[in-house]
Amino acid sequence: MKIAFFGAHQFEREFFDRYNARKGHEITFLEEHLRPETAVLAAGHDCVCVFVNDTVDATVLGLLAEQGIQLIAARSAGFNHIDLDAAKRLGIPVVRVPAYSPFAVAEHAVALILTLNRKTHRAFNRVRDGNFSLDGLLGFDLHGKTVGVIGTGKIGQVFAKIMIGFGCEVLAYDIAPNYSVREMGVQYQPLGDVLRKSDIVSLHCPLVTATHHLINGDSLARMKPGAMLINTSRGGLVDAKALIDALKSGHIGAVGLDVYEEEADLFFEDLSGQVIEDDVFARLLSFPNVLITGHQAFFTKEALQGIAMTTLDNVSEFEATGDSKNKIRGR
Ligand code: NAD
Repeated sequence: MKIAFFGAHQFEREFFDRYNARKGHEITFLEEHLRPETAVLAAGHDCVCVFVNDTVDATVLGLLAEQGIQLIAARSAGFNHIDLDAAKRLGIPVVRVPAYSPFAVAEHAVALILTLNRKTHRAFNRVRDGNFSLDGLLGFDLHGKTVGVIGTGKIGQVFAKIMIGFGCEVLAYDIAPNYSVREMGVQYQPLGDVLRKSDIVSLHCPLVTATHHLINGDSLARMKPGAMLINTSRGGLVDAKALIDALKSGHIGAVGLDVYEEEADLFFEDLSGQVIEDDVFARLLSFPNVLITGHQAFFTKEALQGIAMTTLDNVSEFEATGDSKNKIRGR
């Protein structure tokens, strides 16, 4: 198929080019993100490949349908950025990469926890500067602490297993509890109890209407004083303004974020020479106990290889059969 690959980064091209040598699609790598203004670049292609910061709303889908686009191939697991109802109405199927490396994301959540706790990011700079003072670097043993996992799917399960390995007690909340997670020794409890009892809460559920601002002023107030919150799932799970209030009051002790609700205008680009206009984001950056990474939890070699393989396999399968096992079939 002829694929218009929007928002292409150099780091992913190498993985797609290598695997496509076996698949034989014609890929046009476009640096532009998919937007109403750039949708015209899809002309002459059969398929549009998108990432989480592309706009795939009803307007864009309408423009793609006019150009005869037959397939949207999301090179991500999450698909909250795609208007599935509009795609269905227009008869454009959407395929995605349901799993690539749950280890990549779970391990990044752990990296955020360890960095926030033991302050290795601050120690790195201090020691290079010849400052060997330990003031301000005090952490806590993870062993024996209670960790709450919200969403025990593929990533949440790997995360829970790692935390059990640290000697933590793991509590979980999921609308669909999983037997194999219970077998690991994880206790499912109501959301309020998980929030109240956990020293660390890590979010691993998808962003859907029911989970939008799952962490808001009320839920933050229910968390243990001094607790740590980790979000490697989707920015919209957390009400960032309420989080700022909870950080200012000292109720929340530390926050690790790999995602942010308004990240589309920020992440994946070098904006180091520009003024950040998002005041909420700028305020979050100003806290010493907040660590933000720019949606890099997925960013391992194994994950990029898996994303390239599944995306191109999805396109090949659709080309051959008109369907794909990774087609999103509605919620
Ligand atoms: P998954 O579908 O395997 O698991 C999601 C789990 O959340 C399921 O067990 C589901 O029952 C549960 N869930 C659904 N609604 C819920 C609710 N209202 N309350 C509690 N639990 C609920 O997904 P996954 O592969 O583990 O991925 C989890 C999320 O991680 C994705 O939705 C995606 O947004 C995010 N993600 C982030 C990155 C990154 O780079 N930061 C990369 C991949 C995925």
